[in-house]
Amino acid sequence: MSKTYALANQKGGVGKTTTAINLGAYLALSGMRVLLIDIDPQANTTSSLGFDKNDLPLSIYDALINQVPIAKIILLTDLLCLELVPSTPALAGAEVEMVGLLAREHLLRKAIAPVVERYDYVLIDCPPSLGLLTINALTAAADGIIIPVQCEYLALEGLTLLIHTVNLVRDSLNPGLRIRGLLMTMYDTRTNLSQQVVEEVRKHFADKVFDTLIPRNVRLSEAPSYGETILSYDPQSKGGLAYRALAQELIAGDNLKL
Ligand code: ATP
Ligand code: MG
Repeated sequence: MSKTYALANQKGGVGKTTTAINLGAYLALSGMRVLLIDIDPQANTTSSLGFDKNDLPLSIYDALINQVPIAKIILLTDLLCLELVPSTPALAGAEVEMVGLLAREHLLRKAIAPVVERYDYVLIDCPPSLGLLTINALTAAADGIIIPVQCEYLALEGLTLLIHTVNLVRDSLNPGLRIRGLLMTMYDTRTNLSQQVVEEVRKHFADKVFDTLIPRNVRLSEAPSYGETILSYDPQSKGGLAYRALAQELIAGDNLKL
């Protein structure tokens, strides 16, 4: 049984992309077949895996707007079992072009439907907005949303609006949409603030918060500039160990067999 999750938070720079690529890598290492879908015009997932976002024959744009079969767009990565539907800056215009299309919220869901069952996990990396691209991701996310939350002052700010959007999408577009988990990112063991933020978020969301905390770790921010995931760049780093633990926690919670 395939699991499809959207990594979403309209707040920028909270760790959506870092989580998509590194969680994806460790799920693949565990023997899961993983498809990453980059639906952010910034195309950071695409670049982080070593692809040139300005020099791709096809991208998610073509699947959404030109009905190109998604199977023709999928790229293999350096890691066995980790595949990618890349993005491109041209996707920025797609939001406007999509407005005139029929069933515009369902374009991504329909595009990926033919391939979803080939994978154990499909992870969709969203842009930092609640526009039509994110709505498409939430509509396609049959098994829920994973919300990275940065351990910083005002972390809860904006979450109310995000949850409201999730509820709207669940009621009208995707009945299966649920919050799979909130993931605390950039946790800094040296500050009380990080700990306070985690406590605060746990108070509000209780068991919806993943046990695994992702520490602030410079190795995680270095890896993308080499086109690598933390798995190949520095698996023994604190960031590497944390994403390994997150993959195990997700698999265990999903009751998927290793
Ligand atoms: P956007 O909203 O722009 O798409 P995002 O939510 O995808 O951003 P990332 O791109 O994953 O966030 O992270 C933002 C920046 O913080 C990046 O430079 C990334 O390398 C860095 N970063 C992410 N997680 C960590 C971490 N745990 N420790 C240190 N740096 C991190
Ligand atoms: Mg991103």
